[in-house]
Amino acid sequence: MADYDVFVFCDECADVHPMGIRIAMNDGPVDKKSIGDHYAGKSLPQNIVNMISNYTTCPKTGKMIKQEDNNQVFLVPVG
Ligand SMILES: [Zn+2]
Repeated sequence: MADYDVFVFCDECADVHPMGIRIAMNDGPVDKKSIGDHYAGKSLPQNIVNMISNYTTCPKTGKMIKQEDNNQVFLVPVG
């Protein structure tokens, strides 16, 4: 089991923001990888589906963002 921080690409300001969510995964990537890449051809685990349904506040514009493109949601190993 490894911990991952989740980052999303922001369509508002074209930067990448942390979602402020940490998830534990048994089958996560070794390096930073998008969800779209990591689960290509597979269905997403329920905890990932739940996680990406959350909104993130863009610190630059103050807007609530939700990234619908799984290729723009990144898992980054902690530590
Ligand atoms: Zn932003």
